[in-house]
Amino acid sequence: MAGYDELLFAPLGGVGEIGMNLSIYGFGSRQRRQWLVVDCGVSFASEEHLPGVDLILPDIRFLIEERKNIAGLVITHGHEDHIGALIDLWPRLKVPVYATPFTAALFEAKRLSEPGAPEIPINVVPIRGRLTLGPFAIDFINVAHSTPESNALAIRTPAGIVLHTGDWKIDPTPLLGAPTDAAKLSALGDEGVLALIGDSTNAVREGHSPSESDVAKTLAELIRTAPARVAVTTFASHVGRLRAVADAARAADREVVLVGRAMERVAQVAREIGYLDGVQDFRSAEAYGYLPPDKVLALCTGSQGEPRAALSRIARDEHPEVTLSRGDRVIFSSRAIPGNEKAVGEVINGLITQGIEVITDRTHLVHVSGHPRREELRQMIGWVRPQILIPAHGEALHLNEHAELARRAGVPQVLVCRNGDLVRLAPGKAAIVDEIPSGRLYKDGSLLVNAESRTIGARRRLSFAGIVSVALALDDKGAFAADPEVELVGLPETDATGVSMADIARDAVEDAFESMPKPRRRDPDAVAEAVRRAVRGAIAQRWNKKPICHVHVLTV
Ligand SMILES: [Zn+2]
Ligand SMILES: [Zn+2]
Repeated sequence: MAGYDELLFAPLGGVGEIGMNLSIYGFGSRQRRQWLVVDCGVSFASEEHLPGVDLILPDIRFLIEERKNIAGLVITHGHEDHIGALIDLWPRLKVPVYATPFTAALFEAKRLSEPGAPEIPINVVPIRGRLTLGPFAIDFINVAHSTPESNALAIRTPAGIVLHTGDWKIDPTPLLGAPTDAAKLSALGDEGVLALIGDSTNAVREGHSPSESDVAKTLAELIRTAPARVAVTTFASHVGRLRAVADAARAADREVVLVGRAMERVAQVAREIGYLDGVQDFRSAEAYGYLPPDKVLALCTGSQGEPRAALSRIARDEHPEVTLSRGDRVIFSSRAIPGNEKAVGEVINGLITQGIEVITDRTHLVHVSGHPRREELRQMIGWVRPQILIPAHGEALHLNEHAELARRAGVPQVLVCRNGDLVRLAPGKAAIVDEIPSGRLYKDGSLLVNAESRTIGARRRLSFAGIVSVALALDDKGAFAADPEVELVGLPETDATGVSMADIARDAVEDAFESMPKPRRRDPDAVAEAVRRAVRGAIAQRWNKKPICHVHVLTV
C-alpha cells in the first residue's frame, strides 16, 4: 500500500516544562517524510538539584536518526531557551539553520565568545520574510516579546496551515519593533488555520499584560528621583528595556556604564543592527569610578542572581570597578526565573544589609513578562480561529489552563501532549499516534551526559551524605595483613557525644570482619560487602544518614 501524506507535530522539549524548546513538524507518508525543526533551546540547572551541571539540553537521538530527512532548523527568536543548545547539538545534525538578523548576529557574537565553539552557518531570513523548506512554506510573523525580532511561524503545508506562536504577547506600544501583527494573524485566520501551537507560560494569569511603555515610565521616575548612584539589572537580551533605561538615564542627566560581558555583547550587536539608534553611547565599567554618583547609572548583568555576574559581584563588594554604598538605589527590572528565587534573594539581602535601596517588581511596575496572559490568549484564538490547539511552552499546570481556556473559547479540538508524543494533525482527528525517543542531556563541564546516566545522581548523593573509603589488606589465611585504612569525605568529624566518626567506621570494619566465619574471610567480595553494610549501619546509627561506602580489598 502506498502511504498517504500526514502532517505531524512532536515536541522534543519545552512541553511539560519551561525551557529547552525544540519542536518538530513532519510532512509526508511513512516512507517519505520530511521534518522541520523549530528552535533548539536549553534549560538552566539548579545547583542543588543537578550539582555541577551547567545546562540541560533536549535529547535529539530521533533527529540524528532522521538527519537526512530534515529540511531545516528555524529559530523563532534569540532567547537561550530557543537557541541555547545549538552550539552543542548542531554538530550532530549539521542541518541548515535559519534566523532573522538580530538573532543570527547575537548568536554569532555568543559563539565567538565561547572558546572552541564550532562554526555554525546561519542563513539570515529578513524580518517578515518567507522561507520554503521541503514541503513547508514558512512565513515569519512579527510578535511582541522581550527581545527583538520575535517571530510566530505560519507553516503552510499541503495538509493545512499551522501557526507556531513562539513566545509572544500583545503590546500596542512596545519600545522596540512593531506590535504583534494582528492584521496578518487575522488574515491567516480568514484563510483557515488547521492548528495553533501556542505559548502557555502565563496561562494562569488573568487579564492583559501591561505595556513596556508603562515599565519605561516607572523606570524613568525611579531613575530621576534617585538620590545617589543607580544600578539597574535586567535580562541582557531585552534590548527594549536597555533602551528604556538608557533614555531614562539621559533624561536624568546620567551616563550609562555597562557592567557584565553579556550586556556589552548584546549592546554591541543591537547597536550594529540599529536597535539602539538615537541612544547615548554607553561607557565601559572603567569610567564608573570617575563619574559623580548622581551622574552615573550602572546597567548590570546578574538579574537571576548568577554568582559570577556583575550585580552579585558588586553586592559582595568584589567587583574591580563598580561599587555601591549606603543610599544608592538598585532596580531589578526583571523577575526571577523559577529555580533562581533563592539566588536572587541572596543578592537582594546582601544589598539591603549594606544600606542600599532595592526596588523590585513586587512594589513597582519595573518589569513585565514577555508572555501572553489569558485575555491575550483569547485574542490570539479569536484572530486565528484554529481547528486544533496544542498548548506548548509551559509546565503541566500552564498547559492545562491554556487547554481549558481554548475549549471554553470554542476551539473544536484541544490536545495536551508532552515531550516525545508524536501528534498527527492531519488527516483525520488530531491524535497522539506514537511516541518518539526524547529526554534530556546535561552539559557537565565540556561533556554532554545522558540524564539517565548515574553520574549526577551519584554526585547528589555525595553532596548529601559524603563518602567513606575503606582499604583492607588480607593475607592468604584470611587475616588482616595491615591495619585497615579508613578515609571519610564530607562527614561530620564526631558524633553527638564527641566520638570520632573515623573511629566509629574503623570499629565497624573490625567488628564486621571478626564476626565473619573464618572461611568466609578469604572471599574478598564477601568481606567487602559485610564491611560496607557494617560501616553504613554504624554511621547511620550515630548520624541518621547513610554515606556512600567504598571498600577495596587487596589480597597479599
Ligand atoms: Zn523568549
Ligand atoms: Zn521561551
